[in-house]
Amino acid sequence: MSNKIIGHYINGQHIAGTSGRFSDVYNPATGEVQAQLCNATAQETEAAISAAQAAFPAWSSMPALRRARIMFRFKTLLDEHANDLAKAISLEHGKTISDARGEVTRGIEVVEFSCGMPYLMKGDYNDQVGTGIDTYSMHQPLGVVAGITPFNFPIMVPLWMIPMALATGNTFVLKPSEKTPSASLMIADLLAEAGLPAGVFNLINGDKEVVDVLLSDKRIQAISFVGSTPVAEYIYSTGSKNGKRVQALGGAKNHLVVMPDADLDQVADALIGAGYGSAGERCMAISVAVTVGDVADKLVEKLTEKVKTITIDQGLNEKADMGPLVTPQHFSKVKEYVDLGVAEGAKLVIDGRDYRQKSFEKGFFLGPCLFDHVTKEMRIYKEEIFGPVLSVVRAETFEAALQLVNDHEFGNGAAIFTRDGEVAREFTSRVQAGMVGVNVAIPVPIAFHSFGGWKRSLFGDHHIYGTEGMRFYTRLKTTTSRWPASNKTIGSEFVMPTMK
Ligand code: NAD
Repeated sequence: MSNKIIGHYINGQHIAGTSGRFSDVYNPATGEVQAQLCNATAQETEAAISAAQAAFPAWSSMPALRRARIMFRFKTLLDEHANDLAKAISLEHGKTISDARGEVTRGIEVVEFSCGMPYLMKGDYNDQVGTGIDTYSMHQPLGVVAGITPFNFPIMVPLWMIPMALATGNTFVLKPSEKTPSASLMIADLLAEAGLPAGVFNLINGDKEVVDVLLSDKRIQAISFVGSTPVAEYIYSTGSKNGKRVQALGGAKNHLVVMPDADLDQVADALIGAGYGSAGERCMAISVAVTVGDVADKLVEKLTEKVKTITIDQGLNEKADMGPLVTPQHFSKVKEYVDLGVAEGAKLVIDGRDYRQKSFEKGFFLGPCLFDHVTKEMRIYKEEIFGPVLSVVRAETFEAALQLVNDHEFGNGAAIFTRDGEVAREFTSRVQAGMVGVNVAIPVPIAFHSFGGWKRSLFGDHHIYGTEGMRFYTRLKTTTSRWPASNKTIGSEFVMPTMK
């Protein structure tokens, strides 16, 4: 058992935790347990909420520009520590250091966007909506809000939430993934160094017990969740039932439609990166290639060649393209899906199950797997695998391919590769997905747009970050005002006011 204990951050202080309940944090490359995460008690979780509640009045009444300046300093510190953050991500998640740097950059972009919050929070004003009457609206923060995040983006996903919530004047309790907690914990120190007052940001580590306290405590006004669909649905239904505003982003099965006129080398390159990058542990990974017409055989041939060029290694190797899976449990789950695909009758063109990483024999390395002749009835098609497993499904026509995408229960991202603008336009207009790529395999929107899926990939009304994020973390207040001269008689009005 490792001696390193990972605790919590409450009211500006790191604390070790008292529960005596621990969960293992692995180094996925070596297979060793490198730390023990102390699961918080209900009392510790409540202490974090109390700290956030106590900090809210001063933080929410601070001028938005001063809050934005703290975010600006936070952004500078994130830039300075980007490499340390990337290393911390890679050591617990297993993803390559270059990919982890990309994740940090995409997170920083949301902090950068939040620096403009005073502009975004501007309300509307109309003078003379009635004689001598003006109306104006403003966005006000909600109070204490919570974020619950998944293992696969320990920096980027928390940063989809934290800067947006703080810059709008809320205080925050983060519950990161118990599998990859260390990088998220580093955010706490950088926020404090940037000048964030104690209590405005708190972090509590743990599992369902912590989440259930966040879902039931009346002081929590809103919850942002990112993770798997069953948990997203639970968070959404329980949180909403308890009167909270909830945005819960869930799982995915992203399709890339390959039209017969597409450049197949470009398609194959895109599929290799989007299917096997981060070992397929991305909610925007492409896990299904839908080939239209007769391109499947040629594409599978190209993919088979290109897969051989993927460099697999522990994440800190700068030259690696793909690292191990996150935990032994996740490794077994993904491998069982590959066994299932074979049993279901799909053709396993590339079998990564027996892959062993030299010098890291105990690591959770699975080689890339490629299935051909996958059908929509198979579980490997219907369910999210979240590993380096790419399926090729054959469709005769564009309409049949579009139907497949639209019939799937998930609708996070979808992409099309074609040279035909009309087909691309038809696809973007009719596809049932929240984020669409045209000759772009992973269409993750930039910070000044918003991120979110459709169907069972998102529960709630708002996408995350961007303008949607500002709306999620604020309530609208509209004031109608009149300043009559004190000697002027207005009289009683018994009918519904109609602004004359
Ligand atoms: P997960 O659902 O297992 O865990 C997410 C969070 O929920 C963690 O903090 C975890 O501690 C907590 N949790 C887990 N089980 C719980 C339960 N029963 N009750 C309450 N809380 C619980 O997800 P994960 O394995 O960490 O992450 C991978 C999943 O996240 C994939 O499904 C992936 O598609 C999804 N994801 C989605 C997006 C998106 O934007 N839609 C982004 C990243 C990841």
